[in-house]
Amino acid sequence: MNTTGALETSAAQSRSAELEKLILKEPGQFRVLTGDRPTGRLHLGHYFGTLHNRVRLQDLGVETFVLIADYQVLTDRDVAENLTEHVEELILDYLAIGIDPERSTIFAHSAVPALNQLLLPFMSLVSVAELNRNPTVKDEIAHSRQAAVSGLMFTYPVHQAADILFCKAGLVPVGQDQLPHLEITRTIARRFNDRYGKHTSVFPQPEALLSAAPLLLGTDGTKMSKSRNNAIALSIDADETARLIRGAKTDAERRITYDPAARPEVSSLVLLSALCEDSDPHTVAEEVGVGGGGALKRRVTESVNEYLAPIRARRQAYARDRRLIREVLRAGNERANAIADATLKEVRAVMNADY
Ligand code: ATP
Ligand code: MG
Repeated sequence: MNTTGALETSAAQSRSAELEKLILKEPGQFRVLTGDRPTGRLHLGHYFGTLHNRVRLQDLGVETFVLIADYQVLTDRDVAENLTEHVEELILDYLAIGIDPERSTIFAHSAVPALNQLLLPFMSLVSVAELNRNPTVKDEIAHSRQAAVSGLMFTYPVHQAADILFCKAGLVPVGQDQLPHLEITRTIARRFNDRYGKHTSVFPQPEALLSAAPLLLGTDGTKMSKSRNNAIALSIDADETARLIRGAKTDAERRITYDPAARPEVSSLVLLSALCEDSDPHTVAEEVGVGGGGALKRRVTESVNEYLAPIRARRQAYARDRRLIREVLRAGNERANAIADATLKEVRAVMNADY
């Protein structure tokens, strides 16, 4: 299901291109926050949708915060029962792809009380109707396998506003599905400033940074997602990768072309190959040509496995050092707490609650 309008996405894409130019000019002017729910291993959709951008921005010298949204898995029972393991696996994925804890702050929002406290004033700035309309929440609810929808689920976009605004991040590298959430964050920042900011602006209005793959499809032809059994995780081995790609949905037309609107499944595979090879999807499609779905899948398998080989090797090396993983999180939580405490103090002051 496409949860975000094509117009909205294309506007965000052109804005992302402008932002890229500004970032290159002055990387020190930006602060990035983005993150993931610890619901399972990270996959290629995450990687080309947002993870690769995070590492790139970090390496350009942009201050980067990486959030583990552990409160947002309480609605997911299988995960909540093994939360520690999920969080540690997520950190392993981060380290493996090149997030450097010396330069980027990796933290879990449940460990940052002042961040969570922002949720309360923020909740007063949005209406129930606005939360109800959010297409991503609707989609997440539809896929959540819950018997009843909990109140927490409706707070996700507001919680996310607290996640982004606690450190006053202006740039959020995300996939397309996050655009409606980010719109709520921007609304909350604007309304907070209007109501309490007087002549100062307490919060920035953060902008989305979309990648070249804002919606990578999974093996069943719908959005690649941890909870849909259609994902190719970064950490699986080369044989498993080959098996999953062999089973990916394509179409009946033999000649391979790159046409995302008319041939979404085939085009998503072509794009995946192009991203791994750092080439153009039209070139990949032409090269495969009449080789058909079989040849395309062999090409994708080879390029994905080659691209992921060093990431997979690093992951195995880091997995032997569980102490390091815990230390990364402890240090990140400490840094995040210091920033959140300062922001909450400022928020309480402008709200006349400075007692
Ligand atoms: P879940 O099914 O548990 O919601 P998910 O796979 O959708 O998991 P999230 O943790 O919700 O993953 O998303 C993390 C980040 O990855 C977000 O910025 C999201 O936009 C991005 N992302 C997730 N799936 C894709 C995808 N298929 N293509 C591009 N970006 C994606
Ligand atoms: Mg999701």
